Amino acid sequence: MASSSRLVKPESQDLLHLRVQRCARLSEHWMRITLGGGDIERFQPMGFDQWFRIFLPVGGDEGLDRVPAKANRLFGYLKYLRIPDGVRPVMRSYSVRAFRPATSERGAELDIDFVLHGSRADGTAGPASSWAEGCTPGESVVVIDEGLAFNPERGTDRVLLLADETGLPAVSSICASLPPHASGLAVVEVPHTEDALAFAHPEGIEVRWIVREHDVKPGEPALHALRELGDGDLPAHPFHAYIVGEQALPTSARRHLIAERGVEKDRVSFCGYWRAGAASPTPKSRLETSAARP
Ligand SMILES: Cc1cc2nc3c(=O)[nH]c(=O)nc-3n(C[C@H](O)[C@H](O)[C@H](O)COP(=O)(O)OP(=O)(O)OC[C@H]3O[C@@H](n4cnc5c(N)ncnc54)[C@H](O)[C@@H]3O)c2cc1C
Repeated sequence: MASSSRLVKPESQDLLHLRVQRCARLSEHWMRITLGGGDIERFQPMGFDQWFRIFLPVGGDEGLDRVPAKANRLFGYLKYLRIPDGVRPVMRSYSVRAFRPATSERGAELDIDFVLHGSRADGTAGPASSWAEGCTPGESVVVIDEGLAFNPERGTDRVLLLADETGLPAVSSICASLPPHASGLAVVEVPHTEDALAFAHPEGIEVRWIVREHDVKPGEPALHALRELGDGDLPAHPFHAYIVGEQALPTSARRHLIAERGVEKDRVSFCGYWRAGAASPTPKSRLETSAARP
């Protein structure tokens, strides 16, 4: 098999200044924020699991004007860290849930689905979750496009998609980008039945939802479900596996697929989206290189 690189980079990684157009509570743990205005026409949609760095104005708009170019690279990141505490925007990674080009009635729009975790009221929510829960139309943000971790060169005909709730936007968007004849299995773990947001997918892709019991570590039920799958439940080899979610899920599931199911390393795209007990962003040393956690 021709080997493909792990990531698909975007054409441009310029800073894009955008504004919140709408906020919609989709369920107990989901908030959809629609961005547009500003530099939106310069955003180049790539489909699949396109993701980006987003800078949130937790210290007011002043900090957004001070975000340096290439803040997603080591030297830019060090400059970003020089923005004083209290003014420095929060930087996090999120996926493009949907992108709609401009029409004669309105400008282009980009949807982000934020998982709401912890409690905003008692301060246990992370800054991004808390911002999403309380944000209002008109607020400004800055984004830097990061491209894809699901590299279509690794295969789009047969796929296995495995994720916790943070990966649901990516899985939904991948399914919207796959060819209509694609087949396979998507297994998505969510904290509550109502958080299982239905998404369009090719007819040949079966979607299985797993609702996590309270107090169970995120990612464990999805990993358990993978281990329990009979070989006949998996797509026929060769297939492209895509695994994202709490750090232990992609690393353990990838190991399982390679060691126990004979999947070639080059057929697995995986990414740790967050780590239980540790705040984002990614430690500086991993910013440049890691496919396991961009
Ligand atoms: C490429 C990529 C794409 C992503 N796409 C999305 C997306 O589309 N939607 C989305 O919701 N998330 C997405 N994530 C995950 C998101 O970036 C993290 O959940 C992030 O840590 C949230 O930031 P925060 O400020 O709310 O919490 P942080 O300040 O980072 O963390 C604070 C505390 O909350 C915990 N925590 C963080 N996230 C969660 C969670 N989801 N559930 C429970 N506890 C959590 C941490 O372990 C920590 O203890 C993506 C991550 C990556 C790397």
